Amino acid sequence: MRLPIVAGNWKMNTNIDQAVEIAQEMRGRLDKLEGVEKVLCPPFVSLSAVRKVISGSSIKLGAQNMHFEEKGAYTGEVSSLMLAGLCEYVILGHSERRQYFGESDEIVNKKVKAALKAGLKPILCVGERLEENEAGKTEEVVTRQIKGALAGVDYSESLVIAYEPVWAIGTGKAASGAQANDTIKLIRSALAKLYGGESAQNIRIQYGGSVTAANIGEFTSQPEIDGALVGGASLKAAEFLRIVDQTANAKR
Ligand code: PEP
Repeated sequence: MRLPIVAGNWKMNTNIDQAVEIAQEMRGRLDKLEGVEKVLCPPFVSLSAVRKVISGSSIKLGAQNMHFEEKGAYTGEVSSLMLAGLCEYVILGHSERRQYFGESDEIVNKKVKAALKAGLKPILCVGERLEENEAGKTEEVVTRQIKGALAGVDYSESLVIAYEPVWAIGTGKAASGAQANDTIKLIRSALAKLYGGESAQNIRIQYGGSVTAANIGEFTSQPEIDGALVGGASLKAAEFLRIVDQTANAKR
């Protein structure tokens, strides 16, 4: 039985005060929701402040990115060693990082290795672009991304995968539950080739892409989907709580 996991990716939104306010609004009720892992991923500058708000609760903290080097002359970057001890999770290979910051599978691979080495739990994002989807290349793309990002990486139960079709992110056009479930099955097969069937069954795979409180049920009712990576809707406390609550209930 895989424990479902819902993570909120706040992206480049909120200043410190706003991040604290959202976290405070969520804390009490989110803390009480059981049977689901809850992760908040505010911007780097708010990690410390949000950490204080959720301290002593069952809510986990995650970063949205990190550099693969541990330290050095990389002005403006944040490393795994800086995040270790501050947060538990780190989102890696998000499509916005791939698209706007040129992150290749090779770079994502270095980041996954660095995160695991530092004891951080990676939420590794994979997903096809619209043109790849329309060309029937979804399997090829997600398999390549999984193999590339996990090359030379030993099996770790800390690893979480987020299947996020790029065409569904921030567009309001979510995949269907069945579509997402089918692709996640393919991702699990790729993981089974790397780590064996049993280990692959233990790895949690989320769906991400325009998830809301109105459509989460479509995803959580699917057997292969172990929760969600939520962008826009995770900035609204009441909506995020409903998403997490429904996930916990559906997977009970
Ligand atoms: C995301 O940022 O990972 C995401 C899925 O965004 P949204 O929920 O806004 O589509």
